[in-house]
Amino acid sequence: MSVSPLPCVLVAGGAGYIGSHMARMLLESGFHAVVVDNLTTGHEQALCETTFRQGDIGDRAFMREVLREFEPQCVMHFAAASLVGESVAEPAKYWRNNFVQTLNLLDAMLECGVRQFIFSSTAAVYGNPVEVPITEQHPQLPINPYGNSKLAVERALQDYDRAYGLRSITLRYFNAAGAHPDGTLGERHEPETHLIPLVLQVASGRRPEIARFGSDFPTRDGSCIRDYIHVQDLCTAHLLALRKLADGAPTNVYNLGNGNGHSVNEVIAAAREVTGHPIPVRDAPRRPGDPPVLVADARRARDELAWVPAYPDIATIIAHAWLWEQKLAGQRR
Ligand code: UDP
Repeated sequence: MSVSPLPCVLVAGGAGYIGSHMARMLLESGFHAVVVDNLTTGHEQALCETTFRQGDIGDRAFMREVLREFEPQCVMHFAAASLVGESVAEPAKYWRNNFVQTLNLLDAMLECGVRQFIFSSTAAVYGNPVEVPITEQHPQLPINPYGNSKLAVERALQDYDRAYGLRSITLRYFNAAGAHPDGTLGERHEPETHLIPLVLQVASGRRPEIARFGSDFPTRDGSCIRDYIHVQDLCTAHLLALRKLADGAPTNVYNLGNGNGHSVNEVIAAAREVTGHPIPVRDAPRRPGDPPVLVADARRARDELAWVPAYPDIATIIAHAWLWEQKLAGQRR
């Protein structure tokens, strides 16, 4: 039986990058957030004043216990492996972590009568775009096991709604970036592979240079273009989705991006402005599986969820990430 009088949301993967921002936002918005995380990639220090249970989201007996104890109205699912390159080398890890474990979580939810679910999906479900900006109707033909494992869950969710009445909102993130504006929470992957944190590690002196993966793409300056979306804006969309599901909305899918593309060169230039550091660049070969341009058409989220990103500007996204990087770099000194 739930002990809190507040509406409860279970945050699977709440010690990770996006999940930890979400848990904090839920708390600040008057919810009781219960975090479940096995801490394999999440960090205990990222937990805010929430209830925490350590364990696997795919452990049905454990999840049943947590769900029965807290009776959440909804489960938000951030716990996943999310490195494209690793997924190509180790597809079994991706199918197990992202697909099998999620099915176990869904089954535990059904056993406990929890029937609202918000799923973190990805632009990787679209594969190589045939049309940009990318709408939700764009063909879904992933080109790596990461995208395949996420799309498989999306398909399962449609079937689970039809058969079991489990309603879900799937949010397809473009490039999650930035950090909490107060600089106390941010991205910490080991190893780090993402562009913005790596560029900022150069600025803080933790790396000598940034490798630019490809400079001969068919784009305005030859480097890849991505749609960077602030982590707080992703979380706001989850809050709106939570309310939508609570109001009885049917299962649906939304892209989350700003609709503005920034090239690798533009990101580096913006980071030079923000940090005042020259940030040396080394040219490196293209990374396998990188499409030249990924930009969202997120009008559906704007129209149906009334979602308006608060930090669409790349300089602000980088400035918040820079506050966080300075904190991390300071801890290492
Ligand atoms: N990138 C780069 N150097 C790096 C890391 C990333 O040039 O050290 C490029 C990458 O090829 C892609 C963009 O930056 O075009 C964003 O990559 P990231 O890994 O941050 O996100 P992804 O688009 O893979 O989700």
